[in-house]
Amino acid sequence: MQVRVGQGFDVHPFIADASRPLVLGGVTFPSERALKGHSDADVIAHACTDALLGAAGLGDIGELFPDTDPAWAGADSLELLAEATRRVREAGWEPGNVDASVVTDHPKLAPMRDEMQSRLSAAVGAPVTVKGRRPEGLGALGRGEGVACWAVAVVTSS
Ligand code: MG
Repeated sequence: MQVRVGQGFDVHPFIADASRPLVLGGVTFPSERALKGHSDADVIAHACTDALLGAAGLGDIGELFPDTDPAWAGADSLELLAEATRRVREAGWEPGNVDASVVTDHPKLAPMRDEMQSRLSAAVGAPVTVKGRRPEGLGALGRGEGVACWAVAVVTSS
């Protein structure tokens, strides 16, 4: 059996736009602020996508779903994650699990953690876990200017 690991990182800045939903891990959070991006800017789904693509050696999310392509404007990032996972399997790799660490003070992730994990896991077809970390006042994340997420994924082939 072959085992590979992949790492993904993403960051999106906050914008004040009450009309735009704040989506993290496929869950819409009540918030005055939203994340800026071409798609729904779901930074957790994007980091998980890049981790899986990296593990399978399939490039990155920007190559698969270019932000210059109007087809992905406002895209549901869970669908992008599911499509990337389909391509990972097509290339002969089976996702083992994905683990993500999100760095932000806002919104509070804990109440929606199970729901995020459930939706992300459904998109991947394997366990996806999400951990929230506070930025402790440091830098742009500490000033609440955006949300960052790191993820690692394991894939196997027999
Ligand atoms: Mg992104």
